[in-house]
Amino acid sequence: MRFTPKKIEEILIAILGPEGTPLIRELIGKSNVSEFDLATRTKKDIKIIRKMLYILHNYNLVGFTRKKDKQKGWYIYYWTLLPESIRFNYYKMKQNLLDKLNAQLEEERKELFFVCPNTCVRLNFDQAMDFEFRCPECGELINQDNPEERIKQLQSRIASLEAEFTELKEEKKEKRKQGKERKKVVKAKIKKVRKTDKKKSVKKETVLKKIKKIVKKK
Ligand SMILES: [Zn+2]
Repeated sequence: MRFTPKKIEEILIAILGPEGTPLIRELIGKSNVSEFDLATRTKKDIKIIRKMLYILHNYNLVGFTRKKDKQKGWYIYYWTLLPESIRFNYYKMKQNLLDKLNAQLEEERKELFFVCPNTCVRLNFDQAMDFEFRCPECGELINQDNPEERIKQLQSRIASLEAEFTELKEEKKEKRKQGKERKKVVKAKIKKVRKTDKKKSVKKETVLKKIKKIVKKK
């Protein structure tokens, strides 16, 4: 799956809540944004901005550098989103959800549930026994619930999450392959530079510079 700005926004809003939206929008696609600029652009108090940034930092979703303001003598923090870390967190969250759904599915399959006809409660067998099969809210007799619909819903959510994970694995494989191929190309190029420069007995420093340039290029 591609991590579009919209997706990143969605993930970060899940953490900060909707009030974090303006801040998130100011961070996406930029790097080293001063916290004062963030406060000005979002028209929010610097304390609120800092609080949200610290929350994101706790999740390791933003990084910062700081510079001393020579005139005022204090430090100014510059913030940058960490896309790889956002990605990792996202899948961790989804993995937790998948575990939870699987546990729920298992429970639905092996437990008996009872519901109130007025939809006040849904109780498992032990709880229903404790209330002598009467609704603790309205006193009506409670009936055994048919879990079929719930099970179907859980199964479909689990299937779509699992599909997402499979896609991710494929993506990772593809990336690794591309990385390996790039390494091969770079190695070959370096070899060639070394060979020809040896013949021409070019200075070591110049050769190093050339190699660095090759490695850097993507
Ligand atoms: Zn009831």
